[in-house]
Amino acid sequence: MSGTTDIPPIDLDAPDVNADVLIVGGGLVGGTLACALAQHGISVAVIDSEDPEALVEEAYDGRSSAIAGACQRVLEGVGIWAHMDSGHQGPGGGVQPILNIRVTDTDSPLHLHYDSDSVGGPMGYMAENRTMRLGILARLDELKDKATLIAPARMADHGREADGVWAVLTDGRRIRAKLMVAADGRGSRVRDAAGIRLVSWPYHQSGIVMTVWHEKDHRGIAHERFLPGGPFAILPLPGGHHSSLVWTEKSRLADHIMDLDDDLFHAELASRFGDFLGEVKVVSKRFCYPLTLQFAPTYIDRRLVLVGDAAHGMHPVAGQGMNFGLRDVAALTERLVEAHRLGLDPGGADVLEAYQRWRRFDNLLMLGLTDGIVRLFSNDIAPLRLARTLGLAAVNKLPGLKTFFMRHAMGDIGRLPKLMQGTGL
Ligand SMILES: Cc1cc2nc3c(=O)[nH]c(=O)nc-3n(C[C@H](O)[C@H](O)[C@H](O)COP(=O)(O)OP(=O)(O)OC[C@H]3O[C@@H](n4cnc5c(N)ncnc54)[C@H](O)[C@@H]3O)c2cc1C
Repeated sequence: MSGTTDIPPIDLDAPDVNADVLIVGGGLVGGTLACALAQHGISVAVIDSEDPEALVEEAYDGRSSAIAGACQRVLEGVGIWAHMDSGHQGPGGGVQPILNIRVTDTDSPLHLHYDSDSVGGPMGYMAENRTMRLGILARLDELKDKATLIAPARMADHGREADGVWAVLTDGRRIRAKLMVAADGRGSRVRDAAGIRLVSWPYHQSGIVMTVWHEKDHRGIAHERFLPGGPFAILPLPGGHHSSLVWTEKSRLADHIMDLDDDLFHAELASRFGDFLGEVKVVSKRFCYPLTLQFAPTYIDRRLVLVGDAAHGMHPVAGQGMNFGLRDVAALTERLVEAHRLGLDPGGADVLEAYQRWRRFDNLLMLGLTDGIVRLFSNDIAPLRLARTLGLAAVNKLPGLKTFFMRHAMGDIGRLPKLMQGTGL
């Protein structure tokens, strides 16, 4: 099996890099997987099409991520967290514990309120994606005996044979491995080249993302407001006076808002944000992400496995896309480490099927849940609005149900891989 580019025959018996696993895509998910495998003695080659220096520029990715408690344990267990949680704690560095979450519907006085006191610790953490990328790069450097990062680099051709996989990069370098992992995001070329089809539908919504400074301390409180155009999230960043905003609007309106001059943009923002944190100023570039749901019905093929957004892309309403990618990482690492210890082939069908069985149902459940929330909350039909407002208030009054949702947001539901439980492999 090979790609489509015509290249001269190359001697793949003398590769430049020989590893157990070749990971295509060194983003948040692929990069974490590389650290997890290398830390457990499995050699990895990671290729990414972007220059690592560009990936950590402020202008590359304006997003911050809500990291569920169970996924924080993964980052801690593989040695990335220590780099994220050290040094400068403020814009561009550090992590912020989420101590409270307040969910409201439009301007209704009824609400849902999650409090970390009732679970005995933070419900999760906020960190800029840049901070996480820097943590991954620092950890990969510490693990360089087992992890080879090749970036910027692209594959000119690749193949998956009965006994292994190979890739030839556009600069002529050759890589051989036993397993190929597609961690190359929503538009995964590796997935497409394998002929794995994609199920997808657009939400006709876009997420406008930026960082704001505000006069008053956010006190670790995250706010999610369900407005008629879609959810509007105010997410606390380290230092107390910065928050990340994810402002969802219908795509056509979002394009228009993105083009507004600073004064008009600020007026639109202020009307949604309110004045509860005092004066508010936008302190970053504006970013805009079109939102779609997509998933691959199968995550595996011969010596190939899909992880993260390459396998499933969800709406950011519940802040779970990357978290579910890290669940993939924890499950795949557990299966591969088991195989490695037993001397089994890491690309063997049994290993890959066991990973798929573990992860596919869990991911589909979250895709369905986020899709349901988006459909229920992104409209202004009066009876639906009343039902969801009463629903929020009812959950708030039912301790059992509330704890269940809280545990879900913290990532503690389902059959957890060991790395998510915080135990060694
Ligand atoms: C507005 C918004 C807010 C979000 N907020 C949250 C949140 O709070 N919490 C959360 O859990 N999730 C959140 N998400 C989802 C999260 O950002 C994604 O799920 C996550 O980034 C997926 O990571 P990934 O590594 O799988 O893919 P990507 O981040 O897309 O990384 C793919 C990597 O592959 C590389 N690549 C691509 N093509 C190739 C190629 N051909 N060859 C080599 N390399 C290649 C890219 O350079 C990149 O580094 C949010 C998403 C959006 C849009």
